[in-house]
Amino acid sequence: MYHRVADPGSDPWGLSVTPDNFSAHLAALKRDRAVLGMDDFVTQARAGTLPSHAVAITFDDGYHDNLAAAAPLLSAAGLPATLFLASAPSFRQTGYWFEDLADLILDARDPADARVQIGGETVAIRFGPRESADEDRRGWRAWNGGRTQRETLFHALWERIRVLPVEAQTVTLARIGAALGRAPSRSARPMTQAELGDLARGPFTIGGHTVDHVDLPTLDDSEAFAQIANGRTDAEQVATGPVNGFAYPYGRCEPRLGPIVQAAGFSWACTTRHAHVDRRRIDPYFLPRIQAEDRPDIDWLN
Ligand SMILES: [Zn+2]
Repeated sequence: MYHRVADPGSDPWGLSVTPDNFSAHLAALKRDRAVLGMDDFVTQARAGTLPSHAVAITFDDGYHDNLAAAAPLLSAAGLPATLFLASAPSFRQTGYWFEDLADLILDARDPADARVQIGGETVAIRFGPRESADEDRRGWRAWNGGRTQRETLFHALWERIRVLPVEAQTVTLARIGAALGRAPSRSARPMTQAELGDLARGPFTIGGHTVDHVDLPTLDDSEAFAQIANGRTDAEQVATGPVNGFAYPYGRCEPRLGPIVQAAGFSWACTTRHAHVDRRRIDPYFLPRIQAEDRPDIDWLN
């Protein structure tokens, strides 16, 4: 599971692999593994014919670097990949709220002392001058806890905003931007619809990842179905083949969602559960995945 092929200074969720490391991963995968497209992978797993060294390459969300950096390296290596597309950030060019939040809080130059309404509560947006750890965030991951006021606040806000309805997420980010007197840079922008078309004519197959990158367990069945099914319809607009696969945003899933994903027309779905696929018995709507690590080797796959 990849998200970005890029080298940002700050990467709170470990979503980026540098182009050099991605290139090294592809060389190692090509040498040591059988790299399949996801549809072939699932078909062979269902038939019980999946080779033990089979792997499939996936990307989530739809970041611009997938086209600019990942696609040329995949094409050069002759390897396929699947992109699970969250369609609204691309089609409406609204950006990703979690990138905007990182931009506004982690990259803030000046101290802040403001209050912002978030989901019906007043939340303090308060931090002082940049601390020494704020000047080098390389290697810092949010799940290890904040080292500075900005990092601690970022993680607390992220948890709070993730579970809000999408309209409230947009409003909240606008309020935070207004309170800080800044607009997010959008350096980690989603592909446009035209760029997605280019991607789909290359080594990428397109899958679904909901319209608004929603936290599905917070939605009822009909809301979840609409997000999943409309996301599939959107994906079909840019895809050059069938849209068979889905991935749960944030990896957030529960058993009731499997039949909903199936009803929306998908044949299989990926979680972020860190495990190898069990070749004796696969659960096609809850396939595990392993998050790629930003290092040259692929030992993290073992
Ligand atoms: Zn995602």
